Amino acid sequence: MHVPLLDLKEQLAPLRDEIVAAVTEVIDSTQYILGPKVEVLEANVAAYCGANHAIGVASGTDALLAALMALDIGPGDKVLTTPYTFFATVGCILRLGAEPVFADIDPVTYNINPEQMAEILHADAKAERRIKAIIPVHLYGQCADMNRIMALSREYGIPVVEDAAQAIGAAYPMEVDGKVVWQKAGAMGAAGCFSFFPSKNLGCVGDGGMIVCNDPELAERIKIIRVHGGAPKYHHGVVGGNFRIDPIQAVVLDIKLPHLPAWHQARRANAENYSRLLRETGLVGEGVVTLPEAVYRAQAEQAPDGADYHIYNQFVLRVEKRDELIKYLHGQDIGCEIYYPIPLHRQACMAGRGFDRVFLPEAEQAALQTMALPIFPELGEERLQYVVEKINSFYRG
Ligand SMILES: *Cc1c(COP(=O)(O)O)cnc(C)c1O
Repeated sequence: MHVPLLDLKEQLAPLRDEIVAAVTEVIDSTQYILGPKVEVLEANVAAYCGANHAIGVASGTDALLAALMALDIGPGDKVLTTPYTFFATVGCILRLGAEPVFADIDPVTYNINPEQMAEILHADAKAERRIKAIIPVHLYGQCADMNRIMALSREYGIPVVEDAAQAIGAAYPMEVDGKVVWQKAGAMGAAGCFSFFPSKNLGCVGDGGMIVCNDPELAERIKIIRVHGGAPKYHHGVVGGNFRIDPIQAVVLDIKLPHLPAWHQARRANAENYSRLLRETGLVGEGVVTLPEAVYRAQAEQAPDGADYHIYNQFVLRVEKRDELIKYLHGQDIGCEIYYPIPLHRQACMAGRGFDRVFLPEAEQAALQTMALPIFPELGEERLQYVVEKINSFYRG
């Protein structure tokens, strides 16, 4: 049986006619850059995320870059982030001439560890005060520990840019005046960045991204930076870039957006089934396979209408003999992948920046032990059972 890591054809099929009609309408309109279709998408994404403003951009990478530019991050500045994420998170810091500072990850959630963040921020505040932004990543579709991260942001007066590329719609139990208020990824920090890369839960037919924020002045700065810093046109008070999204992507995303809650639900159902079936094999009990943990789930079950506590952009296991297992599964025609095999402080392009003396053991372990299984909404029971059977037969022989 063939089980791809991700199959977009199955998602496309029921929407295809609607998408083709909408794209055709854009082509016939000859309005190909920004415009009313993009504005509609921006309003819908802002509403979905509970944010006041949304600014469509050309990719998740450009979302991060434009957000950092709007916060004036540049040479001499440091940005505190996680070493265990897609490269773009750190690439944007480096492209602006700033330096990343890494706090290690939590071994359960793989998200940035707030205790280490606190130590780093404390040391920086006593010495150079060069940390000018914090970028937590809501990895695999589960929010980082934002109560503590936002408390640190307030304590040190440093803005948070959420890398929510993998987490659009993921909800987080924020404590507000002693009560839990479920807030959406991206809407908690100063700015939140989304990617519509096709493999994300909400994907377009190319590259696309979005920034959400609540501060109207920051939104305005980002909008200006999106068009080369020109405001009015041809008058450049700041240097921006071409970070624009096009209406072809916007109409596709607008058609898909209403389906997102059901797709998240289907991914969670797959995660439940994997977890149950893998427990039944005994491999979890024996410690051979460690399941991902949805750390806000218990709280979500008490929320009146539930909450998207995890959107499972990826379903990531920690396993023994990881590389052999992947090879075996590939041989059985099962797609699986390592996110991510090299933590960012160990990347070749980081050489000469002093990171060879930096040890982040949890990120380094995760890079050696984890792997992602197919979790896309249309996966279905039969293929999922087959994946679990093959994992079991790999270890049991
Ligand atoms: C996908 C992703 C990005 C970059 O998004 P693009 O749209 O591919 O530029 C950034 N950060 C994380 C965590 C991502 O997963």
